[in-house]
Amino acid sequence: MPGEFEIIDRYFKRKNRRKDVVKSIGDDAAVLRTDAEKDLVVTVDTLVEGVHFPLDTDPEAIGFKSLAVNLSDLAAMGAVPAWFTLSLTLPCVDESWLQGFASGLFESADRYGIDLVGGDTTHGPLCISITAMGFTSTSKALCRNGARVGDAIFVTGYIGDAALGLAAKQGKISLEQSSLEYCLSRLNRPSPRLDAGRMLLNIASAAIDISDGLAADLSHILNASAVGARLQLTSIPRSKIFVEACAYRPEWRMVVAGGDDYELLFTVPQSKIPRLIQAGESLGCGITRIGQIERQPGLRIDDTDGREVVLASAGYQHFDA
Ligand code: ADP
Ligand code: MG
Repeated sequence: MPGEFEIIDRYFKRKNRRKDVVKSIGDDAAVLRTDAEKDLVVTVDTLVEGVHFPLDTDPEAIGFKSLAVNLSDLAAMGAVPAWFTLSLTLPCVDESWLQGFASGLFESADRYGIDLVGGDTTHGPLCISITAMGFTSTSKALCRNGARVGDAIFVTGYIGDAALGLAAKQGKISLEQSSLEYCLSRLNRPSPRLDAGRMLLNIASAAIDISDGLAADLSHILNASAVGARLQLTSIPRSKIFVEACAYRPEWRMVVAGGDDYELLFTVPQSKIPRLIQAGESLGCGITRIGQIERQPGLRIDDTDGREVVLASAGYQHFDA
């Protein structure tokens, strides 16, 4: 059975007829040329109950996250958010749920400066689909296909907190109350790295947001750019809470294959690293170098003892066998 990405490639990926389509299927968002100065950047993401969030998730968190994951795709392109539309499928009219959902949604909208301009409301299993639009200067959007041999690989923030939060929620790991709250907020209320994305314009050669897992999302950059990469496992930044929680059992799988962090993963030519370090200082989230782009295709990960880590699964894919 074909997986998510094979389905897209086989049935939906076509050559575009219009010259104003700069980027379409295969990146974090589409880039459409609107006039001489600006490109319109468009992305859609859908959250399905039971797949993207457990049945008992707080409606405020669902509202916040469903917009935040779209903003994260705009961030990965270096775009400034402008508008979004909301397609909402509801199993029933539950006003207290709607109240919570709307307050989370608009908290995220207000924080990141994006306006709701339309949508659709239907009856059926709970499903939230948001289309977000933003702008970049012409030809400036950060794409997945620009990584070159020798470029350094960086990430923003910390990796693995959301996977730890999910594991705790599923009862697979137990955490102290304050650590649990931190990890659940990283899982339910991701911070789209819009400032970082904008800062990376003219610095990064390629970028993506980490939604499915670090290894899986890096592989999208590698495939699009026709290069390979080597990562140093211990360089991958983890929060103090993550390190403490996993002190007795290093949870590298969560770091490399866990999704939902919504940090940015990007590549930078050596000559631009000093500029990146300087510009990165003013970012609240921090940036860390985790590896480099190599000619040999595929992804290699060095463990502490110099051996290579073998990954059983790189990350989440819908319809994965
Ligand atoms: P992301 O994780 O960044 O949101 P996805 O992995 O969902 O991106 O999608 C990969 C690419 O395939 C994107 O460019 C997306 O727009 C495109 N895509 C996904 N599903 C479809 C579809 N049904 N029709 C057209 N394009 C699609
Ligand atoms: Mg993305």
